[in-house]
Amino acid sequence: MRVVFIGPPGAGKGTQAERLVETYTMAHLSTGDMLRAARDAKTEVGLKADRYMSAGQLVPDEIIVAIIAGRLGQPDCGQGYLLDGFPRTIAQAESLDAMLAEKDTPLHVVLELQVPEEELFERLAGRGRADDTPEVIRQRLVAYREQTAPLLKYYGGQELLRSIDGLGSIDEIFQRAKAVLDEFAD
Ligand code: AMP
Repeated sequence: MRVVFIGPPGAGKGTQAERLVETYTMAHLSTGDMLRAARDAKTEVGLKADRYMSAGQLVPDEIIVAIIAGRLGQPDCGQGYLLDGFPRTIAQAESLDAMLAEKDTPLHVVLELQVPEEELFERLAGRGRADDTPEVIRQRLVAYREQTAPLLKYYGGQELLRSIDGLGSIDEIFQRAKAVLDEFAD
């Protein structure tokens, strides 16, 4: 099963993604995790990406698309994957569509975790990750609203979008996600 998992920063996507990849046979592809690993390893890509990440801005599309193109070619992705944090712009979504069309492996579903924006700031401020200063948090929310939210219409137009309520306990939200993905699991 090939899934895109989409939602604003602070929606709880990472937590749900961990549980979903334990439940279904699919690789967990988190571009945020990949970038943090590259940054910690001080690779050229990692150091370049860090300048954007620490400002709450999106890393340029060509960097991200190259990372994902390499990752999708690895054997574990043949069984399916959960894309967590990618695509984040229309250009990334179009690149993904082109890659998947070439392999004849279309997406099954795009799952949106919905959380109201006023809830997100509180959650992000309480999470205390090193890069989560109030200004950076605000910038990340702006990036979501302006660059990533347009994907909802994009995938809605492809009839791939399914949205679930991201308010409630971790378990309640997981059950909602599972109810959707069960329709597509083989
Ligand atoms: P995340 O852990 O998904 O919130 O990602 C952390 C940071 O990595 C983001 O704030 C961006 O700076 C960067 N990032 C992760 N995924 C992407 C992406 N698909 N496109 C651009 N930047 C990304």
